[in-house]
Amino acid sequence: MQKVITIDGPSGSGKGTVAKILSQKLGWNLLDSGALYRLVAFGALKHGIALDDEPALSEFALKLDVKFVLQEGSELLIPVFEGEDVAKQIRTEECGAAASKVAALNPVRDALLDRQRAFATDAGLIADGRDMGTVVFPDAPVKIYLNASAEERAERRYNQLKLSGESVSIAAILNEIRTRDERDMNREVAPLKPADDAIEIDSTSLTIDQVVARISEALSN
Ligand code: C5P
Repeated sequence: MQKVITIDGPSGSGKGTVAKILSQKLGWNLLDSGALYRLVAFGALKHGIALDDEPALSEFALKLDVKFVLQEGSELLIPVFEGEDVAKQIRTEECGAAASKVAALNPVRDALLDRQRAFATDAGLIADGRDMGTVVFPDAPVKIYLNASAEERAERRYNQLKLSGESVSIAAILNEIRTRDERDMNREVAPLKPADDAIEIDSTSLTIDQVVARISEALSN
């Protein structure tokens, strides 16, 4: 049986943090699939590829020059893209919005499939994204769909951005989250939705520790 746990859900649901904690706790690999879409968007902006140029974007996605390296002294994986640490640059709201545009293109998704599946080794994998349980790892034995209200997710994002010194209004973030949800849930390819066999967790009024405890409970069943 595949040693894969998929964690899907909308942005701000806490899945990234939960995935990181679980991968450290279990000693399994971590796939942050959103980072791959962000890197395609980031690279497209860098190289002047239009965000709707399907053939150019899919070729670029297929050849994406990225390595995820462990940051010295921490457990964090840093994306090194075309030789440069771009961890901070791909986390901006602008890059997230652009990522959601390129992610709506089927050839781009196809181009990233094998790369994502290659993360699944005997060491085990926590796969974080939107379609991990529905498309990329449909045979994963444990699938989680993590959700939270849009208002709660906007507040979390606002606090995160405040910490990193970015000043954006909470209303603007809520608006961006709603636009991104709308695009991710209603696109024709791999729309964001729980897999039929996913365990759904609403994290609106749960702490990260409580979410991790619920998933750990599901793992032991
Ligand atoms: O999770 P993150 O916010 O980094 O993802 C950025 C965007 O990439 C999402 O809004 C979504 O459109 C896209 N994405 C996707 N499928 C994934 C992961 C991310 O479509 N598996």
